[in-house]
Amino acid sequence: MLPEIEKIDKELSLLEMRYSEVIASSQAKCSHPIEALRECKYEKCDYLSDMPPCRVCTICGLLAEGWSHLEGNYPKMQPYKDVPIISRGELFRYVRRT
Ligand SMILES: [Zn+2]
Repeated sequence: MLPEIEKIDKELSLLEMRYSEVIASSQAKCSHPIEALRECKYEKCDYLSDMPPCRVCTICGLLAEGWSHLEGNYPKMQPYKDVPIISRGELFRYVRRT
């Protein structure tokens, strides 16, 4: 492999590791205030599995998804009423995964 490509591959790998560390740390510290939360609703799908409701913190990108997340099974995101509902596509633009 060309040395320039190897160098960039190493740089990308280091950046990906750093990115994951920053996201994990930010999500652990974030209080996920209700003002920053957005949800999308359950969607029935005829050709794949139905898609569960999801909630995201727009500050840190933490995603909670599942059939029961609104009942409080996700300790970092307590159930709230009146969380703005947005489309699934818009919601996933906020998501940050480690
Ligand atoms: Zn958050």
